[in-house]
Amino acid sequence: MSESIQVPCPFCWQANDIWFDPEEVGNVIVQDCSTCCQPIDVKLSIDHLDQLVAVADHPDD
Ligand SMILES: [Zn+2]
Repeated sequence: MSESIQVPCPFCWQANDIWFDPEEVGNVIVQDCSTCCQPIDVKLSIDHLDQLVAVADHPDD
């Protein structure tokens, strides 16, 4: 079953619902921004409070 988390696009800063499968935590998933269509690299991980965190990587950094 898929879940979603909101991540701001690193290009246009619009919030996107990123859909992922729980098995993908720890991986980087790529989803196109619904506003500017740029591919967003989202790194999914679990923090020290067992909370899911999603960080958008800017490819030019
Ligand atoms: Zn965007």
